[in-house]
Amino acid sequence: MKQFKTESKKLLDLMINSIYTNREIFLRELVSNASDAIDKLVFKSLTNNDAAIDRDSLFIQVAFDKDARTITVSDNGIGMTQDELDKNLGTIAHSGSQQFKQENDANSEVEIIGQFGVGFYSAFMVASKVRVISRAFGSDEAFVWESDGVEGYTIKPATETEAKLLGEHGTSVILYLRESSEAFNTDQLLSEWRLKELIRTYSNYVHHPIKMEVSKRRQLPKPEDAGDDYKPEYESYLELETINSIKPIWRKNKSEVSQEDYNEFYKSTFHDWSNPTRTISFHAEGRISYDGLLFIPSMAPFDLYSKDYEKGLALYSSNVLIQEKCADLVPDYYNFVRGVIDSPDVSLNISRETLQQDSQLKAIARHVEKQIHTDLVKMRNEDREAYEKFFENFGRGLKFGIYATYGMKAGELADLILFWSARESKMVTFAEYIAAMAEGQDKIYYAAGDSRDRLSKTPAVKNALDHGFDVLLCTADVDEFMLQAMMRYHVAGTPADDDHEATEDRDLEFVNIATAGLDLASEDEKQKAEEATTENRSLLDAIKEALSEKVSDVRIAASMGDAPAQVAAEGPISLDMERVMAAEFDGETQGMPRAMRVLELNANHPVFAKLIAANTDNDTEKLALYAGVLLDSALLVAGLPVEDPVAFAENVGKLM
Ligand code: ADP
Repeated sequence: MKQFKTESKKLLDLMINSIYTNREIFLRELVSNASDAIDKLVFKSLTNNDAAIDRDSLFIQVAFDKDARTITVSDNGIGMTQDELDKNLGTIAHSGSQQFKQENDANSEVEIIGQFGVGFYSAFMVASKVRVISRAFGSDEAFVWESDGVEGYTIKPATETEAKLLGEHGTSVILYLRESSEAFNTDQLLSEWRLKELIRTYSNYVHHPIKMEVSKRRQLPKPEDAGDDYKPEYESYLELETINSIKPIWRKNKSEVSQEDYNEFYKSTFHDWSNPTRTISFHAEGRISYDGLLFIPSMAPFDLYSKDYEKGLALYSSNVLIQEKCADLVPDYYNFVRGVIDSPDVSLNISRETLQQDSQLKAIARHVEKQIHTDLVKMRNEDREAYEKFFENFGRGLKFGIYATYGMKAGELADLILFWSARESKMVTFAEYIAAMAEGQDKIYYAAGDSRDRLSKTPAVKNALDHGFDVLLCTADVDEFMLQAMMRYHVAGTPADDDHEATEDRDLEFVNIATAGLDLASEDEKQKAEEATTENRSLLDAIKEALSEKVSDVRIAASMGDAPAQVAAEGPISLDMERVMAAEFDGETQGMPRAMRVLELNANHPVFAKLIAANTDNDTEKLALYAGVLLDSALLVAGLPVEDPVAFAENVGKLM
């Protein structure tokens, strides 16, 4: 007896007891191996003219024997030589399929499932002994590999009877089932309906027929001499029947497939635990024909935003996998979409490089993008709750799409974006924000910072709400950069109808609420502020002097609610963009672009009277102390760091 190689024993134990939580998947593994074996044979016959085979004769068979307590999975695929039996089944984690792909550079041309070299051993989860009879294509000798999955295995030439079990080539894997235990009931496997059920659950779309002998009943012909009291008689017989649907699910029309089938296909193909939140199926015929089946996952994969994440759709041509992840089929901002595109018009022979230039592929990609967009709009309109969840998972990518294309994609993507409305306390689209705008409002106001809660308490946001303007709260790093890339939101005009007058196209500018000198106040408030400014010119100058480099100006704000002061920014860089960039620059603040700060004062606040008093007394020291504390507190409120926290604390102490 040969011993399993290297760490195989430990691995085998691990396999049987831990890798799979679900023992019934052994059948899927064996069927996948059988399907791979058929694919390899087909591949061989394509690349080697001598190996002509009848493709229609190739199939997988699953059988069971209740008395002997065996399940057999057979195929008339490529088979294994004695040496291959030894290498492939004697070394755990050695994948002959992987090797086949490498040696034949067949990665792109055959749809081979195996790659890890462990699936076969899942048989030992249900079997105490496994016997593999195999005859390699073109060989006249068959061999039998046998193991109890513990110590080792033997390989012997097959007896004549054993060899007869196989056709001219192929493999039969016979499982001798374990006794039923509390952990797993093996008895139930020995039934036609249960095996059928397992095949349909796990292997329905294996693209070769999986057949079983199923029992049928037929009525016997009525004997000629049958009397009046004749009762029909029946006999049962066995018939080989194809169990799986073979036809790839993406070829089928949506009406032919249940959502459960789609879910099962999605989960098993794309290795997700949860059902997809959307399933998009489409078929195009014409100059370029293709079938597409796309899924939007319900959760973002953990590595979605990491460098290692690979986007792309599986690209098939007439059932043959060309590329597992064809990145050119989806734009970056839809990188979360998984699925399959199958087109006979994508030539099989083109290499990966030329594939990228392929005009058919580009045309398909454009269509794919449209399909995804349409479906997202539909979800937003029809299932808002699901959409908001989707947006939580994948919204960041959509925003990046606008930012990274310098706003060029805003036309398509802007209406998929949601922001938190400070007034409505819920997520809204730009269109919804605009629909709820007050008469005369011609800008979209937003506030940017690190938390919704903090933002909604800032004097600037409160003030805007008090004046009847809603504010979108932007808390993701990309948000403000995206809005700046867009600059404006375009509202298309509408023609007149019975109830409404025609409206013209208009573009609404995005405005950060923390912009210096923002014009939200009433005429009355503005006039008062102007008067106060003229009256207190010397005070404002003195404060500016005291704060020297820290601010570019000190002004009286026309309206500010009940805060004594706030910082606002002037110029292209907002305070929050500075915060985001500081995080990017990671402490290396030298050379980093900074926001120009303006300290805005509230002339109606009691603190303002104190400032006037200090200035009238010519007490520069006190004024500097007040100004410093005011600025630092305003920075803290805005979520920005104070330059010198120790000095700030000392100043507060002095004041007290
Ligand atoms: P994987 O399928 O991931 O490669 P397995 O442990 O399931 O790993 O199988 C190991 C290897 O044994 C396969 O790669 C393949 O070379 C070979 N093999 C298994 N089953 C068959 C079969 N029915 N016909 C031909 N070769 C097979």
